[in-house]
Amino acid sequence: MPYSINTQLVHAGTTRPGICGAVRTPIFQSATFEHDDHPLKYTRYNNTPNQLVLHRKLAIMEDAEAGLVTGSGMTAISSAFLAVVSPGDHVLVQDGVYGGTHAFVTQFLAKLGVTHDFIDADDATSWDPFLRPETRAIYVESVSNPLLRVADLESVVAFAQANRIVSLIDNTFATPINYKAAANGFDLSLHSATKYMNGHSDVVAGAIIGCGDLVDKAGKMIHHLGGALDPHACFLLDRGIQTMALRVQYQNASAAKLARFLDAHPSTRRVNYPGLITDAHHARASQLLGGYGAMISFEPHGGVAAAIRAINSMELFTHAPSLGGVESLVTRPASSSHSKMSPSERARTGILDELIRLSVGIESTADLEADLDKALTAAMVMIKA
Ligand code: PLP
Repeated sequence: MPYSINTQLVHAGTTRPGICGAVRTPIFQSATFEHDDHPLKYTRYNNTPNQLVLHRKLAIMEDAEAGLVTGSGMTAISSAFLAVVSPGDHVLVQDGVYGGTHAFVTQFLAKLGVTHDFIDADDATSWDPFLRPETRAIYVESVSNPLLRVADLESVVAFAQANRIVSLIDNTFATPINYKAAANGFDLSLHSATKYMNGHSDVVAGAIIGCGDLVDKAGKMIHHLGGALDPHACFLLDRGIQTMALRVQYQNASAAKLARFLDAHPSTRRVNYPGLITDAHHARASQLLGGYGAMISFEPHGGVAAAIRAINSMELFTHAPSLGGVESLVTRPASSSHSKMSPSERARTGILDELIRLSVGIESTADLEADLDKALTAAMVMIKA
């Protein structure tokens, strides 16, 4: 019987028998290796011992053919796109993706002569008119950043297969604990491993998981562009991954309680969290995901001034970009992850300037709730004054 993901995250990929009896794979802090029967071992070629441990572990996480660790989430996303498209091609991209991906598609791919259309990933019936003979890929996020929308993921896979295009997904927010994208038919599942996989906000890394031939092509792109992860960071990422299941399961439960608290709080106008029964994506999220995740976004009454006051009044939620670590973080996407989008583009996508995004860590839920209550009450007092 295959082991559960909790077991695999600890054991998969680890060198056995251990080198000199070491229980964990030691750090091979060497850029290059002596010639042996293997063609050439070199860190940029992504084939050194600490990288290979992660490749095996990443593939197993989503029951996939192959996995590849990369130097960042954006390396994973950009090399996956570049492995699939050529000048003159066209891609379909979910409306409202992570700002860095939006910039890559609208600025970098556009400069290479790759065109795009943004699609409503909620409504599969609206995609056909955007298809062109030169369309090569469809790209979505399992749970979108920052509005926490859950795309019609089953239809994305079916649409890609029916039209012989590549399905790409950024599975960072869901993590393989809540959604195994590759096992559910996506050709490539991409991750910012900086977030939940590493889980401690001390490493920037990425992951590409999926079909062997496409992972291979993306890997070859990294040979050209660079962007491999160094041995020490690989070791830290492997260490972080071992506790991912425990962390994410706890964070799922904690965020669900905090989302309900925020939803009932008089200071909030709207709360986005797919675990809320009232959320537009609740039914789909319940059907597709093993957990609703630990990201919440919400709009306070009182606009940007109230949002800034609330953020500045929080003590346990650190005001910093990124997410997925053991510590809780808060950002205003309009001034951080989505600041490179024009205000009109943000407004069109539904990302208001006062939107606050929370990444719920592993602290006590009661402490986090008290922190939010204090901060939101301070913001309400300011509005009334
Ligand atoms: N995907 C999502 C959903 C993200 O939130 C981020 C970064 O915030 C990235 C990808 C990019 O990851 P990295 O910063 O590791 O390159």
